[in-house]
Amino acid sequence: MIKDNVKTLVASMPPKVALCAVSKFHPVSAIREAYDAGQRIFGESRVQELLEKIPEMPDDVKWHFIGHLQSNKVRQLIGKVALIESVDSLRLLDLIDSESDKRGVVTRVLMQVHVAREETKFGFYPEELLDYFKGRGFERLKAVHICGVMGMASNTDDSMRVRDDFRKIACIYREILAICPDLIGFDTLSMGMSGDWPVAVEEGANLVRIGTAIFGPREY
Ligand SMILES: *Cc1c(COP(=O)(O)O)cnc(C)c1O
Repeated sequence: MIKDNVKTLVASMPPKVALCAVSKFHPVSAIREAYDAGQRIFGESRVQELLEKIPEMPDDVKWHFIGHLQSNKVRQLIGKVALIESVDSLRLLDLIDSESDKRGVVTRVLMQVHVAREETKFGFYPEELLDYFKGRGFERLKAVHICGVMGMASNTDDSMRVRDDFRKIACIYREILAICPDLIGFDTLSMGMSGDWPVAVEEGANLVRIGTAIFGPREY
């Protein structure tokens, strides 16, 4: 089942789109099944759960952290993940930078942008994010590499609104590239989940985060 879901999804996506299989709330046995189908990127939203799963899986898994990251958990996460997709404040960014620097590692991150109207409370407002890049704030980072932008669309059946949200996120991503054409390795646009990923890909996503369509419903 899970294996088939992974294979079907990968086959239906353009080759340039990477799949992050969102395994939060699912057991390691389920992650194994996806792994055996060739899946290597997995997304988790809680630090404790992620830290418990890491030693249970092979070393070539690329873990993405996709949840709201509390300051007091940053230290535990540094050095363990391939990408933190959900940096939602400059304070958090600076903390990841100083902790990574202390540990002598470079942490790759995406900046989470907030466009959906009421559903998600986390993320930078577009203006705030653009100001950061206009001010070239990233030049002060010692041990963080900003690789792109992550965003979520409104949780609604209104497909026009979903597309509109993805357009806004993609527009911010391209605007950052236009402001800072010299940004190296800023190449990732993460948007789209189980219910809306085809629209996200149409609007330019090259990383999608899919849980339910692979693993089934979550039991919280
Ligand atoms: C849970 C989660 C997903 C996956 O959602 P599905 O609808 O199960 O595909 C994607 N992105 C983020 C940030 C999430 O928290």
